[in-house]
Amino acid sequence: MPNKSSDLVRSLDTRLAHGGSHPLENQGFVNPQVIHASTVLFPDVETMLSGKSKYTYGRRGNPTSDALVEAVVDLEGAAGAVLCPSGLNAVSVALLSCLKAGDHLLMVDTVYGPGRKFCDEVLVKFGVEIEYYDPAVSGNVEKLFRANTRAVYAEAPGSLTFEMQDIPAIVAAARRHDVLVLMDNTWATPVFFRPLEHGVDLSIQAATKYIVGHSDVMLGTVAANERAWKALHATHGYMGAHVGPDDVYLGLRGLRTMGVRLRQHMKNALEVARWLEKHPFVARVRHPGLESDPGHALWKRDFDGASGLFAFDFKEGVSVKQSHAFVDALSLFGLGYSWGGYESLALPVILKGQRTVTQPGEQASIRLHIGLEDMDDLKADLERGFSAVSG
Ligand SMILES: *Cc1c(COP(=O)(O)O)cnc(C)c1O
Repeated sequence: MPNKSSDLVRSLDTRLAHGGSHPLENQGFVNPQVIHASTVLFPDVETMLSGKSKYTYGRRGNPTSDALVEAVVDLEGAAGAVLCPSGLNAVSVALLSCLKAGDHLLMVDTVYGPGRKFCDEVLVKFGVEIEYYDPAVSGNVEKLFRANTRAVYAEAPGSLTFEMQDIPAIVAAARRHDVLVLMDNTWATPVFFRPLEHGVDLSIQAATKYIVGHSDVMLGTVAANERAWKALHATHGYMGAHVGPDDVYLGLRGLRTMGVRLRQHMKNALEVARWLEKHPFVARVRHPGLESDPGHALWKRDFDGASGLFAFDFKEGVSVKQSHAFVDALSLFGLGYSWGGYESLALPVILKGQRTVTQPGEQASIRLHIGLEDMDDLKADLERGFSAVSG
């Protein structure tokens, strides 16, 4: 584990604990009130029309949502941030905030699948040109720029296949052409990588994963720098995106412990990944925190840690059907979408229709989310899976 920015990580923990918290303005209570609201009353018409009231209508925020927004802004080092009803909504609001008809978007080929669908099924209908690029593109992304290129979208490591991206090189190229850079940073979270510090304009989090951290709420955040904030804020308002106060509160509660949870997820996942690397049924483990991973150098240079999500490929000869038997034989690892909660999950990797530029290969592959359970129990469960493969 790199320790180059341990000071920053420490100060991050303090920010996680106290960001957006103002107990003395809340009658001493440590946590903010959960305010259920649509209508906000004004004392008179003059005040209503002045546009100076802090709160005007439920959809546009209240003290509960402000607490989480303030914490996210603090954590990401942002000019501003918005809350969205899901991670996917955060992806779509971020994209809509910077694109118009006739614009060209460079989208990473390894993007989260439903984000790809949003591009192909929605943005295309509104006249945005989408071009997928190889995550290995680095500064060569500049060669893909056209006169109408407006934005580059990155996600590192990539969904399901875990390729790293050279974010600083992409940012440097984009800056030379006044192109915006968006990044889905759900895997690392701001605890392990802060996109805006690296020049990214819009940082997206599926807060459903590690911010919430308990598999019980859908939530997204987008944080923007000065350059991107005004349009993000306006678009978020026009779209009517809003998160209910109970979910906001659970997001804030999750955030407080995200630092300790993530460090444990990292430790556990690296231990399981190293154990899998030596397993006779495993050809390759896709985890940028491993020295053997092609993305390791970039990860080590730019990231402060790794979360609990990675994948492994079975050795040649293990069929997709056998890999499904592996998953079905697990009892501690749950089979389900999403990740980032306290519990372990296993998912067969299915890339059909999800790649147009990179060649993912034919091997059977499993994505694992390593939770906070006991390591010996998890390894024993995985051995049960491997027995089903050989049996
Ligand atoms: C899960 C996920 C999303 C979408 O988040 P939801 O809250 O499920 O809508 C976006 N990006 C990545 C990388 C994800 O893993």
